[in-house]
Amino acid sequence: MKKIFLVLFSIVFLFACDNDFEHENNEPTSGVLVQVSVIDALLQGIYDGYFPIGDLKEYGNYGIGTFNGLDGEMIVFNDTVFQVVASGDVKRPLDDVLTPFAAVTMMHADTTFMLSATSFEEIKLNFDSYFPTPNLFYAVKIKGDFKYLKTRSVPKQTKPYPPLVEVTANQPEFEFENESGDIIGLYCPEYAKGINVTGLHLHFLNSSRTGGGHILEFSLKQGSMEIGYLMDYRLILPEGGDFYGGDFTVDRTDDLEEAEN
Ligand SMILES: [Zn+2]
Repeated sequence: MKKIFLVLFSIVFLFACDNDFEHENNEPTSGVLVQVSVIDALLQGIYDGYFPIGDLKEYGNYGIGTFNGLDGEMIVFNDTVFQVVASGDVKRPLDDVLTPFAAVTMMHADTTFMLSATSFEEIKLNFDSYFPTPNLFYAVKIKGDFKYLKTRSVPKQTKPYPPLVEVTANQPEFEFENESGDIIGLYCPEYAKGINVTGLHLHFLNSSRTGGGHILEFSLKQGSMEIGYLMDYRLILPEGGDFYGGDFTVDRTDDLEEAEN
């Protein structure tokens, strides 16, 4: 009898937790990661945009990606799409501009941490103190005052497109000192290899919206980090084009490491 009661209690408890969880996340698109193409397409030089950024904003107000022909780094922040081009300038492209690769979500903070002096390396080392498991997807937002940041962008390519590692070998890099701004990023688990960038992938936008890019390193003075758990994943793939002839049989892990870090 005792045993039955215990089992019953556990079931009720589980349901109670489940309901609480659903209640906290009842925004229809909150917690959903919506992605255009896959990282292994980008790594092999499939840079033709096919998805309008205006439509991308319907799926998320927060995210990262790139543009048609690999024309700079994308930051989607507060419903605005920013484009950090190879010169370092920040543009606000029109809705009909196409993306070949991007991932967005409706930003929703499940946890918030106040951060004192830390760095990209330290956050990666202390991953467990911020994230409950390495096996989910997360939206990551860090707002703060930075002592130092190093970013990069990528120059627009023309056909025939070279693979991403060849482009990033000559990437323009930018340094920021004593700059305030926002880090907009995603974390993808190891099993997402080939689909998206595994680990933490962060882009930066300064508070005057005049500079940013794909983060190579940063050192933070103080700030806050919001983490949104993403447990629902949608891929929107191209209908035709270079993607259909792409070679997805190759393990591009080393290329990814070289191109992104
Ligand atoms: Zn990036």
